[in-house]
Amino acid sequence: MKKELNTQKFESRFLNNSFLEFLYDKNICIKLLLALKENEIDKLIEKNIYFDKTYSPPSITEPVDVPKHNFLDLVTSTNNYFDIFSSYEIVACFFLHEIGHIFFGYDNEHFADNFVVSRGYGAYIVSGLEKGLKEGLIGFNKEAVEKRIISLQKK
Ligand SMILES: [Zn+2]
Repeated sequence: MKKELNTQKFESRFLNNSFLEFLYDKNICIKLLLALKENEIDKLIEKNIYFDKTYSPPSITEPVDVPKHNFLDLVTSTNNYFDIFSSYEIVACFFLHEIGHIFFGYDNEHFADNFVVSRGYGAYIVSGLEKGLKEGLIGFNKEAVEKRIISLQKK
């Protein structure tokens, strides 16, 4: 079945099984599978993108100790971001935003945000950004995030 193949492909993007299980457990994996199209999952494979957890703010890095892999470092300090945002939809937004960067470039926040909106998560990303600002989280630059919120609210 097509959906099962998609699931397999998506799961292949995780090097860390316990991280994948964690995302399934929180229903975040399912949300991402529903949000991503088949050709987009194929693109993640083509571009050699992997997901893993990190304790820093969402970002994309290329660690020197993982040869031949473009590494996508994501949001997921398990007992930090998940607790702070207390919404799995918001956490899914951060994944979708980073995936948006992969497809539309790393230097444009609006394109990445638009991708999140296009998958029906517009309201969630706004509340996630607002909450990040309120909590003064690392990586939530006030001026830049406020600009993103204003632009998202116009959509
Ligand atoms: Zn971004």
